[in-house]
Amino acid sequence: MKTKWGSCNRETGHIWFNVELAKKPPACLEYIVVHEMAHYLQRHHDDRFTKLMDKFMPNWRSLRAQLNNAPLAEEQWP
Ligand SMILES: [Zn+2]
Repeated sequence: MKTKWGSCNRETGHIWFNVELAKKPPACLEYIVVHEMAHYLQRHHDDRFTKLMDKFMPNWRSLRAQLNNAPLAEEQWP
C-alpha cells in the first residue's frame, strides 16, 4: 500500500509517513496512522476496510475531507 502520505509493508511490518504530513492538523495525522494500521488487517479499500475504519475512528470521513481539502493535497484519499 503506497500513497503520497504514507505506506505500509505487511511483510516487514514497517509503516512509512511523508514528512509533509507534519504541516497537517494533528487529527489528520491520526487519520492517516489509523488508515495505514487498518491496512495490516485489510489490504484493500473494501467494505471490510470501511467497517474497520468506522470501528477505530468513527469520524474518519470528516478528517479525510479536511485532508483532501488541504492546499497540499494532490491526491484523494479513498
Ligand atoms: Zn489506504
